Amino acid sequence: MNILFFGPNGSGKGTQGAILKDKYQIAHIESGGIFRDNIKNGTELGKKAKTFIDKGDLVPDDITIPMILDRLQADDCKKGWLLDGFPRNKNQAVMLHDALKKAGLSLDIVIEIVLDREIAKNRIMGRRLCANDNNHPNNIFIDAIKPNGDKCRVCGGALSARNDDQDETAIDKRHSIYYNTENGTLASAYYFKSLAEKDNSIRYLTLDGKASVKEVAAELVSKL
Ligand code: AMP
Repeated sequence: MNILFFGPNGSGKGTQGAILKDKYQIAHIESGGIFRDNIKNGTELGKKAKTFIDKGDLVPDDITIPMILDRLQADDCKKGWLLDGFPRNKNQAVMLHDALKKAGLSLDIVIEIVLDREIAKNRIMGRRLCANDNNHPNNIFIDAIKPNGDKCRVCGGALSARNDDQDETAIDKRHSIYYNTENGTLASAYYFKSLAEKDNSIRYLTLDGKASVKEVAAELVSKL
């Protein structure tokens, strides 16, 4: 099973990706994660990528595309893969499609979590961390998990916000790349959507990202 997974920052993509990985026992390939590992290990690739990542820009295609196509050839991808964070622009989509055709590999499912830009931004900026437990969900902009005043809604612990969640400029920059339907990430999702309209072997699934994480997960499982 080979899957592409699209969703803006703030849509809960990470959580849903883990569900897919468990269900199909496939390799979960996160382009951002590969870059972070390379930066941590001080590789040449990491050094090159860091300057772009620190500015919130995309790492150039001549670095990113070969890195991902190479990763898809690893042994753990033989049973299938879930690509998360790639493709991020139209060129990456076209190159991926060509490479899959050349390698005789199928693309089975493309998933898009649909969420308005404004809501996605509020999701990120409203997120609060509980001092007692990272898994206590609190978000000042989501009614179902609104904190109790300035305290954790689950245990009453002190709450704080992550610095990078409050960096509005960085969030806007990332979302501008994602929501760009001409050449950005949504353009690459729509490239595969139009392929799926012509080719029955590819399923294009959309999920309503406004629902709670549990509801999105349930919709995902029911559609698979
Ligand atoms: P992420 O964790 O997916 O948000 O990725 C972190 C950073 O890695 C992004 O802001 C980009 O700088 C870089 N990156 C991840 N995936 C790609 C990609 N497909 N193309 C170019 N740059 C990427």
